[in-house]
Parts: sequence; C-alpha cells; structure tokens
Amino acid sequence: MSGPLTKLRNAYHLLKRIDFKMLAQLSEKVDLPKVMESVAHMDDTQLKGLMKMLSSYGSKKELPPVNGDFYDLGEKLNADDRALQLKVRAFMEKEIKPIVNEYWLKAEFPFEIIAKFRELNICGVTYDGYGCPNRSYLMEGIIAMEMARIDASVATFFDVQSGLAMGSVYQLGSAAQKDEWLPGMQQLNIIGAFGLTEPEVGSATAGGLTTTAKRNGDTWILNGQKKWIGNATFADVIVIWAKDVDDNQVKGFLLRKGTPGFSVEKIHDKMALRIVQNGLITLTDCHIAESDRLQHANSFKDTARVLRMTRAGVAWEAVGCARGAYENALAYTLTRKQFGKPIAAFQLIQGHLVEMLSNLTAMQTMVYRLSELQDEGALKDEHASLAKVFCTLRTRDVVSRAREVMGGNGILLEYNVARFVADAEALYSYEGTKEINSLIVGRAITGFSAFV
Ligand SMILES: Cc1cc2nc3c(=O)[nH]c(=O)nc-3n(C[C@H](O)[C@H](O)[C@H](O)COP(=O)(O)OP(=O)(O)OC[C@H]3O[C@@H](n4cnc5c(N)ncnc54)[C@H](O)[C@@H]3O)c2cc1C
Repeated sequence: MSGPLTKLRNAYHLLKRIDFKMLAQLSEKVDLPKVMESVAHMDDTQLKGLMKMLSSYGSKKELPPVNGDFYDLGEKLNADDRALQLKVRAFMEKEIKPIVNEYWLKAEFPFEIIAKFRELNICGVTYDGYGCPNRSYLMEGIIAMEMARIDASVATFFDVQSGLAMGSVYQLGSAAQKDEWLPGMQQLNIIGAFGLTEPEVGSATAGGLTTTAKRNGDTWILNGQKKWIGNATFADVIVIWAKDVDDNQVKGFLLRKGTPGFSVEKIHDKMALRIVQNGLITLTDCHIAESDRLQHANSFKDTARVLRMTRAGVAWEAVGCARGAYENALAYTLTRKQFGKPIAAFQLIQGHLVEMLSNLTAMQTMVYRLSELQDEGALKDEHASLAKVFCTLRTRDVVSRAREVMGGNGILLEYNVARFVADAEALYSYEGTKEINSLIVGRAITGFSAFV
C-alpha cells in the first residue's frame, strides 16, 4: 500500500518529467483531456499495446535481408563454386542490370557485353578441353540461374551459345570439328545458333522436320525454313537440323555465315525475351560440305541428347526468373507504404510472398537434385522434362504474384518485375512446351506413349 507521502513523491517526479512546452503544442493539435480520459479507461492489454507502439515509434526497424535462397543451397557449394556464383552475380548486377530495360524496350542485343562475358570465362562450363572450364552441371545450372535472376534474355543468349550450339559440336562433332569451332566459341569470338524449329513444325520436330538435306558427292544441298532461331541474325555458325531425303534420318549441319542461299529475317514485336534476336531462316539450295556435317549426329535421338542437357538449363533459368521477380517484389513491399505501414506488414501481402517463396524453394531444391543426377551421369529425358514443366509453370505463378504485390508499379519496366512477367512466357514455351514435356514424363511413368 502506498501512503499519501509516496503518492505525493510520485506525482512530483511525474510532473518533473513533463515537458510543458510540448504539452502546450500537443493541446493545440488534439483534445488532450479527452485523450487522457480515453487512456485512463484502457485495460492492461490495450495500455501495453499503446506503449509498444509508442516505444517503436521513430526507432529504425532492422529488416531481414532480401534473399531468395531460403534453404541456403548456395552454402552447399564448395568454396570455388560459391566464389564463381558470387562473381557471376556481381557481374550481372554491375554490367547487365543497368542497361537491360533499355535494350529490352528497343528489342536490341547489347553487343558490348560479349567482350565482358569473355573475361568471365564461363562459356562451355561443363566441357573438357578447348579452353572450357570443365566444371559440374550444378555449376552450369547455378550460372544460368544467376543470369536469369537479372535477365532471362541474356541467360538465353548464353544458353544458345554455350549449351545448344557448342553442345551440339561438343557432343556430336568429330575431333576436327571440335578443334575448329570450340576454342573460338568458348571465347565468344565465334557466335553460334541452333536451328531446329520450323514455321510449321514446332513440337513435332522428332518425326516431322520438312527441311531437307540431299547428298551429292561431298556436298549436301539444304532447302527449307527455320523459325525462332536465337542469335540467328548475327551468328557465325548455325547448327541446322534437316532430314536426309535418302534415309529419312535427321542430321545436323554446321552452316557458316555468308553461305550462298542462306537468308535470315529478324522476328519483330515479341512480348518476351525481347533482347534475344530470333530469326526466320530460309535455306535455298545451300551447299554444305560433308566435312561440315556433324559426324556423330545420325538421327533425332542424337539431337535429343543435346536438348536433354539444355532443358535442365531452362529449368534453372526459370528458377532465376522467379528469384529475380520475388526478390524485387519483396524489397518493394518493405519500402512501399500504404495506410501508414509498409505493405509487407499486411497479412494478404505476406500470403503472396510466402506462396512465391514456397514455389521458389521447391524449384530450387528440385533443380539442385536434377543437376546432381546430371553430374552422376544418371539424368534421363523425363528427369529434365519434369523439372522444365514444373519450374516454368511455377515461375508463371511467382512472377504474376510479384507483379500483383507491386500494384500499378508492377507493370512498369523500371520496377524490374514486369520484364520477368513477360519473359516467363517464353521460357514456358521454348525447348518443349508444357504439354510435350508432360508427355515425355507421362510415357516414362506409365509405359504408354500418348504423343499422337
Ligand atoms: C523466344 C523463343 C526462342 C526460341 N529459340 C529457339 C531456338 O533457338 N532454336 C529452335 O530451334 N527453336 C527455338 N524456339 C522454338 C521453340 O522451341 C518452339 O516454339 C516450341 O518447341 C513449341 O513449338 P511451336 O511454337 O511451334 O508450338 P506448336 O508445336 O505449334 O504447339 C502449339 C500448342 O500445341 C500443343 N501441342 C503440340 N503437340 C501436342 C500434343 N501431341 N499433345 C498435346 N498438345 C500438343 C503445344 O504444347 C502448344 O501448346 C524458340 C521459341 C521461342 C518462343
């Protein structure tokens, strides 16, 4: 029990702490007696809440770092791989991020980045010899993710050069062909492209190619068209897949820039991957020497070996695209305020963020294991297809939520999410659509082919 003296002493100490000047200012703004009366009627819980609010007012809250690698998969890498991952990340943030929206809008390729890429020395990541780094498939996947985390077009350019074009020569070329092309391609002095899809034949390329190759002595004569071919407008060499009219098998040809009968038109007005220069190629009686036919490409099964390898890379690109969108969106929600609070503090926004992170984390763990299978030499078509389907599908969901939590700014390029929304559409369709990759997995798990 406190006596009258104690009460007096307490009241004296209280009065001493009151700043009367501040009180006067306050009473000009609010009805102070009313405020005091309301506070006096508050229960313990309400008073504690008020004190918590007042004590946090003005103090800067320490926010968690923005990081899309929630399960710390990067930490599982060995020191060398981790260092390379961070080097690629720093390169993408410093050299690519500042210019990417401008080039995307202009639908032009930033040729100045080629020399900078050369310095990174990461082309032909997994290949042995020819100046290539000879690193793991996991490292290749991590690089694809880091690139796509900033820009999926640049990641695609790299995938076409290092994966599809170099990979065709590395896996299916003769020793002489590898010696001639791979060192220059590794250094990006020679730019490559990969021509499989045709205007009328996309998903059905396995049996349906209409581009023909007719052997005449030591020369092949090629006729037909190829559509969507990335890098085709400026490539020095294009791997053309054509059907041999004599044995009906698909064969691969190294078409050199400037070959008479070759022409290419840029495909304009794309809504996705606008930096990638996709071409419509026409081949009219193109003469190609037998020595420029890929010597170990004897049927579509060989083409599929290259696609199996690069499809895993597309799954990683999708992860990068989702990660870039998620991280940009999360950062935005931490600073954007509505109703006096950062929007990240709203339950419905947190719901979106957690859905995004769940998908992203599931994708990351999936592609990590996918690359382990690849490094163990155990990767099958259906493994790569499942990851390609799942990751590109989930990425569409992640980018659309990223765009959603940003309100109107989500559709502005400068906020660095809109581009991911658009680019996710191309990742979803190229290197085998959802349906085609699902059919590959479906065939593997049921034993029934449902392609036609
Ligand atoms: C940006 C971009 C870059 C590309 N780069 C290259 C490149 O560098 N080199 C290259 O060769 N190609 C490239 N492509 C082509 C790409 O691989 C094809 O677009 C893709 O394989 C799909 O073919 P398509 O567009 O002709 O669609 P289609 O084959 O016409 O398919 C249309 C729809 O029908 C569905 N469908 C088809 N068959 C079946 C079936 N049996 N059952 C159920 N559904 C089915 C498809 O899933 C799809 O939804 C690129 C494409 C894009 C968009």
